[in-house]
Parts: sequence; C-alpha cells; structure tokens
Amino acid sequence: MLRRGKGIELKSRGEIEAMRAAGLIVARTLAAVTENAKPGATTGELDAIAEQVIRDAGAVPSFKGYHGFPASICASLNEKVVHGIPSSSEVLAEGDLLSVDCGAILDGWHGDSAVTLAIGEVSAQDRALSAATETSMWAGIEQVRAGNRLTDISHAVETAARAAAKADGLEYGIIAEYGGHGIGTQMHMEPFLPNLGKPGRGPKLRVGMAIAVEPMLTLGSADTEELDDAWTVVTDDGSRAAHWEHTVAITEDGPWVLTAAED
Ligand code: MG
Ligand code: MG
Repeated sequence: MLRRGKGIELKSRGEIEAMRAAGLIVARTLAAVTENAKPGATTGELDAIAEQVIRDAGAVPSFKGYHGFPASICASLNEKVVHGIPSSSEVLAEGDLLSVDCGAILDGWHGDSAVTLAIGEVSAQDRALSAATETSMWAGIEQVRAGNRLTDISHAVETAARAAAKADGLEYGIIAEYGGHGIGTQMHMEPFLPNLGKPGRGPKLRVGMAIAVEPMLTLGSADTEELDDAWTVVTDDGSRAAHWEHTVAITEDGPWVLTAAED
C-alpha cells in the first residue's frame, strides 16, 4: 500500500522487494551490455541486446517510449553526458568512453542504473574520471539513510568528487543541471536530488523511500548543451563525461542497492 509523505512515495517492505526484482533485471541487462561493449560494436547493437534481456525477463524497458525516447538504453559516448540515442551507425572505437543508462519496469516497479564503460584501453584521465564518478556515487549512496536530509546525499557526492579531483590532480566538472530522483511506481519522481550543495537541507529521509543516485562528472566544463535531436546532452566544451547510477532503497538496516548485481 502506498502512502505519501511530503510528496515522496513510501514503499512497504514487500514493495521494496518488488523493486529489487526490477533492479536485478537492470543489473543483468547492464552486465550483458558491458560484455558486448567492444571496439567494432555499435550502440544500436547494445540497445538491441538490452531490450532482449529485459523482455526475456518479462519486464518492459522504462526508457522506450518515455516522452518519445526511441530506445531501451541511453548510450552516451565521450563528450555526451546523458540521454544519447543508440544508433546502428555509431561504432565503438578503442579508447572510447561510453556511459550506458538503463531502466526496467517489472510488475509496475522501476529500476534505473547507469555505468561508464572503457572501450578497449582508455586514457589514464578517462579511467580516473570514471572511477571518481563511481566513487562519488557510492559516497552518496552511503548517505541514503533514514534520519538524514536529502542534501546530505548531494554534499557527500560533491565532497567525494572534489577529493578525487585533488587526489587525481585533475579538475572535474560536476554537472548541476541534471541529478538523481525519487523512483518507484514511476522512473522519475519527487524529490530531485542535486549532485552538489550544502548538507542538511531538503526533506528528511525515511524508511520506504527509494532514490536514484547518479553523479555526472566531466574532465572540463560543468555546463551542458542539448543537441538538435532534443535528447542528447553534451558538455559545452567537448570534454569527456562519466555517469554512474544506482537505485537505492532506505531500509531499517540502511541503504539497499536495488540495482546491484546478485553477489
Ligand atoms: Mg538512469
Ligand atoms: Mg535516473
């Protein structure tokens, strides 16, 4: 049974378990995409693989048809940050950095997760960028706990990103125009989760909430532009970007990463 607290959907334990089932399908899908993301493959092929895995599991791709989006994954290559449209003419090359975002609906519940993949051997900077983005995501996930406030997550993401930049001797742009979100019976729900800012603000987190944590970092500008296809978001300076995401539920025992692979 759904209740609503301050506009944020609260899920019962059974509903969180239903979301875990959707999340596992997303994890399996991204594993299949990762396996096939090699030089010479096209992002269109990766999309077809993703749709097959999702449908074989009895689920529906969240992205396909979402406000008219034509595919089951977002495939965002190099300077593309998010919402890249897969294509049979987009061929992966050695040294590319590919972000893949994927969602699935099972029994009305959504899972949403993203990974950044190195195609063959990538530069040390690209590797560092992706690792910093993933580390920032995990720092944010650690704060998805009852009693915290929403922007405790934002602050943890930003702090980890800045610490990684310092350690790596690089300057990472932290994308502010896009961020995480509540998730459950829809993919995108309240609240919007910024990837930076002061802690201790926004709604109080409660058991039964589910939030997608998804930092996007770049090797340059934090500003973006949207291409003429009305979807693809690119860095405005052409620098490369990385994007990592997990769907996380708040339980009595702390964060439950619903889109993590079965261990
Ligand atoms: Mg996503
Ligand atoms: Mg998301």
